[in-house]
Amino acid sequence: MSAQHGTNPLGSPWPASATLVGGEVRLAGHPITKLADRFGTPSFLLDVDDLLTRARAFKTAFDEEFGRSVGVYYASKAFSSTAVLRWLRDEGLKVDCSTAGELAVALAAGVDPADIGLHGNNKSRAELTWAVEVGVGRIIVDSLAEIDLLDEVAAALGASDVPVMVRLTTGVHAGGHEFIATAHEDQKFGLSVASGAARQAVERIAALPRLHLVGLHSHIGSQILAADGFANAARVVLELRADLQGEGIAVPEVDLGGGYGIAYLPGEQELDPRVAAEELAAAVRAECDRLGTDVPEVSIEPGRAIVGPAMMTVYEVGTIKHVQLDEGSRVYVSVDGGMSDNIRPILYGANYTARLANRSSTAGSMPCRIVGKHCESGDILIPDIDLPQDLRAGDLLVVAATGAYGRSLASNYNQIPRPGVVAVTSSEAREIVRRETIEDLLRLDVG
Ligand SMILES: *Cc1c(COP(=O)(O)O)cnc(C)c1O
Repeated sequence: MSAQHGTNPLGSPWPASATLVGGEVRLAGHPITKLADRFGTPSFLLDVDDLLTRARAFKTAFDEEFGRSVGVYYASKAFSSTAVLRWLRDEGLKVDCSTAGELAVALAAGVDPADIGLHGNNKSRAELTWAVEVGVGRIIVDSLAEIDLLDEVAAALGASDVPVMVRLTTGVHAGGHEFIATAHEDQKFGLSVASGAARQAVERIAALPRLHLVGLHSHIGSQILAADGFANAARVVLELRADLQGEGIAVPEVDLGGGYGIAYLPGEQELDPRVAAEELAAAVRAECDRLGTDVPEVSIEPGRAIVGPAMMTVYEVGTIKHVQLDEGSRVYVSVDGGMSDNIRPILYGANYTARLANRSSTAGSMPCRIVGKHCESGDILIPDIDLPQDLRAGDLLVVAATGAYGRSLASNYNQIPRPGVVAVTSSEAREIVRRETIEDLLRLDVG
């Protein structure tokens, strides 16, 4: 946090170090106009202190509430870069990957393979081979076929004791949009507890001497704002664990997944990691008590809640168009990015907030629609928002909470180079993911 006099923190959902000085947004003391001049627009701006504070909050809350070390696996699909993974590793976090590419970034960051988990509902033989070769700490299997494939891979490598978790479908429905809820039965992830597929998977693993069952895994969805969904899923997992232990199959660990929700709009409340940890620890203890089992090792996998609020995107305003409608009119404010750097509004109907960032304005406000520069009428970032009436081309807009599933879901649609990611602390601002150039686009085009 900048200690400068006269600065006002912008508050939620803006990064913790975002302040206003004379109407201009600053991040960790750096004026937005300077950052935009130096790094261009659009850019993702990462508040490094906010990121680290969030990582620490999860690790501390879960360790304290469970009274032991809880594995906090950062779900790197939310945003992955070597710098971020290194910083999070230094805060005691581990890393979740779900593809060879994400694994490559984690290894390039110097993350200990033993601290990496590999997910995925369709891992290839090559991905499994690589994971076993480097010695990732856990492979979370997602189908019966994958168990046999993994056993083949282990045999080919002469590997033994390959650590395996089973991804369960617990039947608990939680989270925002249907496409990010992942524990109801009719979807592609996991092995169903209700149908017996999960138990079959565990028994299969127990029968294969090269594989070593380290735990059960549940991930119920994303952008979840109430802790009871996690607790309900935990009960299903713990009950299966108790049954298995009764049969002599040890299940040392339970991973309760990610999905901790954040604030996207002013007035929204994120799921406080302390509250989530408290509720989950209480639920796990009570359920183990009821079942007469020991309390397992526990791990979690937050992605969005670590990186989401710590970034904002800065855009430059271009064309402003007043469109006459049957009733009234609408102001279309175009920015120099759009669905290629933030697909979530179109994909999930996700809501964001924005504000004028480079100056103050005393003009009244007008209802606007912020749109991108792509050749789609659906290329809408924010459908309805009030912005100053004197907004003009060349102004800067910032959009809050774009750190998760923003840059990582970015595309080159319309051959637009993807934005860079700038890490900002009070002492420096530097690109940790370089902005793409036209040369980058052409480099892959081999004619
Ligand atoms: C996506 C995902 C996460 C992270 O979800 P967030 O909502 O970003 O916290 C964790 N675990 C698994 C298995 C996932 O697929």
